[in-house]
Amino acid sequence: MTAITGATRVAGVIGDPVRHSLSPVLHNAAYMAMGLDWAYVAFEVPDGATSHALEAMRTLGLAGLSVTMPHKTAAAHACDALSDDAATLLSVNTVTAGEGGRLKGSSTDGEGFLRALTDAGCDPQGRTAVVLGAGGAARAVALALGRAGARVNVTARRPDAAASAAGLGRGEAHPWAARTELVRTADLVVNATPVGMQRGSAAPGADAGADDGLPVGADAFGPQQFLVDLVYHPVETPLLLAAGQRGATVVDGLGMLVHQAALQIEQWTADTAPVAVMRAAAKAALAHSH
Ligand code: NAP
Repeated sequence: MTAITGATRVAGVIGDPVRHSLSPVLHNAAYMAMGLDWAYVAFEVPDGATSHALEAMRTLGLAGLSVTMPHKTAAAHACDALSDDAATLLSVNTVTAGEGGRLKGSSTDGEGFLRALTDAGCDPQGRTAVVLGAGGAARAVALALGRAGARVNVTARRPDAAASAAGLGRGEAHPWAARTELVRTADLVVNATPVGMQRGSAAPGADAGADDGLPVGADAFGPQQFLVDLVYHPVETPLLLAAGQRGATVVDGLGMLVHQAALQIEQWTADTAPVAVMRAAAKAALAHSH
């Protein structure tokens, strides 16, 4: 790491819990490769203190702020302006300081997801997509897929959440029990549940699910299909392995994770972020965690 001086700019992430976050690894690797005299740190900010953290961003002149749970909705209320995605989702993962300390909130998850798809050679236009789950990640993905011209289907345990997420993508909601049939006939499948996540890596309260680690049976997959698993710990999830064995083209969760961070850096610096360097840094950090 380059020496911290009086000129070093500070960026960071607010969240709780946040100590497990890969964002400092991703961002600091990028800053170093870009030759930026910047440092990125994790700020543990309790629920309810979002607006104070954003005020501190102004006062301290932070170069940029990432936002994670439980602050994404409160940050949307506390920013001075929102990007279209952030306003639609009422969720902010990126805060950028503008003229006169005006704070703009955006959500880079959807665009990050689409960039990961592009890397894998998948254009969602005209494809039938199935999103498993209807939480924050699923909502961002459904919105992005709908905009990109996919036919969006959302299947989740809670019908109201599935309907809401499907609506963002101008798509259809389905019962969780229908997921195997939906996956069988889809071109593109996205696991946006935490099922398959390494035990112990889940945030408190998260439900890592079935013992086999599969949100849907592996025999629903075949060649000509794309599977994106948003779970990135482990990088090779049970679902990725099983679907890959059945001939599907698989895309791991690091793709979206890296691209959503790269988009933050691009917003803060107006420069292109080194995604390959960031991916390698994240992979190395995950390999060193249990
Ligand atoms: P979330 O808001 O808590 O939503 C989780 C969704 O999964 C909910 O619809 C939940 O349904 C469902 N779910 C949970 N356990 C389940 C189970 N055992 N069986 C079926 N459905 C289940 O979480 P999130 O923020 O959307 O994150 C979801 C996953 O994506 C996490 O693993 C997270 O790490 C990952 N993620 C990755 C990226 C990336 O960049 N790669 C970005 C964001 C999130 P209920 O409402 O019924 O509980």
